[in-house]
Amino acid sequence: MVFKSLRGVEDLLPPESEKFEKVVKTFKEAVEKAGFREVILPIFEEAGLFARSVGETTDIVQKEMYVFEDKGGRQVALRPEGTASAVRAYIQHGIYAKEPFTKWFYVGPMFRFERPQAGRRRQFFQAGCEVFGLSQPGADAEVIGVAASILESLSVEFNLEVNSIGCEKCRPRYREALLEFLKLRVEELCPDCKGRLERNPLRVLDCKVETCKEVVSEAPVITDYLCDECRVHFQKVKEYLSLLGVGFKVNPRLVRGLDYYTRTVFEFKSEKLGAQSTVLAGGRYDRLVSQLGGPETPALGFAMGIDRVMLLLPQVEEEREGVFVVTAGEEAYRKGLELIAFLRSKGIKAQIDHRQGSFKSQMKAADRVRAKFVVIIGEEELKGDFLSLKDLDTGKQEKISGLEELLARL
Ligand code: ATP
Ligand code: MG
Repeated sequence: MVFKSLRGVEDLLPPESEKFEKVVKTFKEAVEKAGFREVILPIFEEAGLFARSVGETTDIVQKEMYVFEDKGGRQVALRPEGTASAVRAYIQHGIYAKEPFTKWFYVGPMFRFERPQAGRRRQFFQAGCEVFGLSQPGADAEVIGVAASILESLSVEFNLEVNSIGCEKCRPRYREALLEFLKLRVEELCPDCKGRLERNPLRVLDCKVETCKEVVSEAPVITDYLCDECRVHFQKVKEYLSLLGVGFKVNPRLVRGLDYYTRTVFEFKSEKLGAQSTVLAGGRYDRLVSQLGGPETPALGFAMGIDRVMLLLPQVEEEREGVFVVTAGEEAYRKGLELIAFLRSKGIKAQIDHRQGSFKSQMKAADRVRAKFVVIIGEEELKGDFLSLKDLDTGKQEKISGLEELLARL
């Protein structure tokens, strides 16, 4: 029996793992500059937390969540997203009583039982930000701006779409109008959407089936139904975004696949990703903290799909780095061991070929690991008490008299 990883659950081997780290590092640098601090949250939680926050009628909860009973008989779920846990932790630790506003970020794996394809996996990674305690439209604009700055730092091209999906005051009116419209076109909807109609017609707007998308393109838009407060809020968000120099397009049919959003929602999309076009998405969720038992607390956030971002990174050739020590014979090998320890202590990446094969095979290894320099310790070098240094970028070789000179050259 040969084991394989589960479908949609991928190993990240080098250099993919290094790409992953680069994305995380860039994300952290960008959000820390904006004052976000890291929270490390559990990978599994009580299943009810997600049903309650993401929404009972969502695809995530109905079809995609990994739920199991633990040995204590509890219903447990692998987290399908990060916001629910962040809100749970915010309430549990009474952060609302300690800070007037809070800016958190998280990075980690998420789990959804979906049909695996390019940019869609069952274990995938998100990096996300959450802001608690700010209701002002400036916070929406800033959060969207931070998201844009992450993708810009990664040289990922995007189109930003924003919308307002209103609040509990104005959404019911829209829901009615939408339902009325969809009922007339019900025959054209996919089986899933037929079911969604009564439970949550807004879900239909997010359907990815072509025929549903066509119907939706003629549906009434929520922006025509916003209450005065929501309208003013959205207007300010757009003004502030322009002020911050963030380019965007209003997509009045944009909704999100999770129930907890209110007012501002946004998606960063890439044309290069085919069907899985959204790389980063988020919005405001002013009702969620109180819905989960905390005090009324406005909040907003986003999550970036790291796997999808990785598909969009420009290909760069790995740069050569560090030193590879090539030796001939036991005495030279011993000197080589001392040398790599010395170089590493000076912060220089250094490797040696323990196989002690031919000069040619050692040079080949140096090239394969993309070393920048080769230090040669051969018979001649031992006799003459010097080292030979070869630059693999230029092919130039020179004699080095001692360690001081070697350090100066590297
Ligand atoms: P989609 O519409 O593509 O299913 P979603 O609305 O379910 O996305 P969110 O829950 O908002 O996505 O998650 C935010 C981001 O996480 C997405 O924009 C995407 O980049 C990424 N993401 C979501 N699901 C997956 C998955 N199964 N595999 C890889 N990345 C994912
Ligand atoms: Mg989804």
